[in-house]
Amino acid sequence: MNKLEVMDFEKKYMANVYSKKPIVITKGKGSLLWDLDGREYIDCMSNYGVSLVGHSHPKVIEEIKKQSELLISCHGSLYNEARSIFLEKIVKITPKGLNKVYFANSGAESIECAIKLARKFTGKPEVIAMMGAYHGKTFGALSATWNQKYRKSFEPLVPGFKHIPYGNSEKVRENITKETAAILVEPVQGEGGVKVPPPTFLPELREICDEKGTLLIVDEVQTGFGRTGKMFASQHSQITPDIMCLAKAVAGGLPLGLTIAKEDIMSSFKVGDHSTTFGGNAVVCAAATAVLKIIEEENLPDRAADLGSRIIANMRKLQNECKIIRDVRGLGLMIGMEFRFDVLNIIMKALESGLLVLDAGRNIVRLLPPLVISQEQLDRAFGILSTIIREEENERLRKTDSN
Ligand SMILES: *Cc1c(COP(=O)(O)O)cnc(C)c1O
Repeated sequence: MNKLEVMDFEKKYMANVYSKKPIVITKGKGSLLWDLDGREYIDCMSNYGVSLVGHSHPKVIEEIKKQSELLISCHGSLYNEARSIFLEKIVKITPKGLNKVYFANSGAESIECAIKLARKFTGKPEVIAMMGAYHGKTFGALSATWNQKYRKSFEPLVPGFKHIPYGNSEKVRENITKETAAILVEPVQGEGGVKVPPPTFLPELREICDEKGTLLIVDEVQTGFGRTGKMFASQHSQITPDIMCLAKAVAGGLPLGLTIAKEDIMSSFKVGDHSTTFGGNAVVCAAATAVLKIIEEENLPDRAADLGSRIIANMRKLQNECKIIRDVRGLGLMIGMEFRFDVLNIIMKALESGLLVLDAGRNIVRLLPPLVISQEQLDRAFGILSTIIREEENERLRKTDSN
């Protein structure tokens, strides 16, 4: 099929729920992607943070191949070695005390499990979530998600959810009640605009939860596995959540979500309380074990911290020269550039110049490159972006001049 045929088929037969970019991707390697016509792109979106170890990492390919020849699927009601190997590895890297794992297939599902678990363990119904939060689009997760655009047409949602301003622990204190089961929070908000809270925020939430007997659920679906410069973003503030939700990057692109809780909390689930057919299947677990090894061997959290602080510094310099940039923020290789206008134009121009970037709301360009991206590739990406930004700046200056 050629490019237009592929696009026509997807337009005709695929549910129209994604805002699509007009390229057909056929191949990936590391931080590069190629389209059907052989054009090369630097990938600074990594499938919304999924391709953290890069595309088609040879070790991930090898483990998927080996395991799929042996066994692809193994229901949770049977035991399996690939699953145990992964479990041993993941509980070694999670914060101390978080050692019971529920296997889901997506970020939203890992949130669903956390919400059910919090209700079961505490016997209380309410959840405090944050304004600007994104936790996914299934009903439970959607009830914790903030954006009205996603919620409005699907009400009534799950009752018991309250949203308070992100970063404001005083407001949490005011809104917590005897019926609050959990506080649900992203350590850095991703979809909500790459918002980094004050460093005292998570420790304050931890303190409130300890005081009130409320559970702290940290959604590390986007921030986990080194993205922000530490294995988990909550480790920047040295807190241990009661429940941690993970997904996106963990299985190198295969669908896997994890809800990891303290043992006494997860033990409140009894047989049959929660389950999913695909959860923790053998191939996904083998891929995830490979990903965890790569993160360790290639020291990806430190890489993210180094590369991230350098590109953020360069962006701040650019911000000093260009008035159209309102703010530059981020942690590790989770980076946002806020503009004074809609960024769709910038994103499309970047695409035409061979660079894939994301948005995060109307006026924010978001970068989530693979953590294996080379300094040279990242410099090239920044070069493309700064050329486009300078052009936009000049164009806007010309317009104001001629007015
Ligand atoms: C992407 C995301 C989710 C939802 O994950 P899905 O796999 O799309 O369901 C939940 N929380 C955060 C923080 C996310 O970034």
